[in-house]
Amino acid sequence: MAVYPGSFDPPTLGHLDIMRRASSIFPNLTIAVVKNPKKQTLFSLAERQSMIRDMLQAEGMEHVAVDQFEGLLVKYMQRSGKRVIIRGLRATSDFEYEFSFAAMNRTLDKNVEAVYLMANESYTFVSSNLVKEVVRLGGDLRQHVHPLIYPKLLERLGLSDSASS
Ligand code: ADP
Repeated sequence: MAVYPGSFDPPTLGHLDIMRRASSIFPNLTIAVVKNPKKQTLFSLAERQSMIRDMLQAEGMEHVAVDQFEGLLVKYMQRSGKRVIIRGLRATSDFEYEFSFAAMNRTLDKNVEAVYLMANESYTFVSSNLVKEVVRLGGDLRQHVHPLIYPKLLERLGLSDSASS
């Protein structure tokens, strides 16, 4: 019924928090990882999906499905019989983009509804991009990334575990 789409490059604890909240409202939740050939990602599509699966399993949330899509989100939703889009809202800075995203999707398919959830305040400033940037520069962001994913992030950035602590 509900789909939480995103890049998840990499998934953060902010994402996990939204997944947990969404699955408590929508028992039939699918995380849909976007495949955007034009966007350079640190992790491949398969890696991002597998990191999300590992994280969900470790958190006892294996009932949440993980899928992928390419192209228009509403087309993917029509194909898979989903109606609700879950998105996370951090600060007001997310609002403008999300507002047009929701309006655009509604224009494309009037049956689609977007539901916005707010993560715990401690994740307000957590984004995949900032995490990548800060960890690349040697910052320790273990409190924002799941312990199963953090070592993979260090490895991909060519850092050893001790280098960031
Ligand atoms: P996209 O490229 O589609 O924005 P992201 O993986 O960056 O993909 O984000 C997916 C969704 O998760 C977006 O709705 C984003 O606002 C939300 N999100 C990401 N990080 C957080 C966070 N720390 N707290 C709440 N929502 C978040």
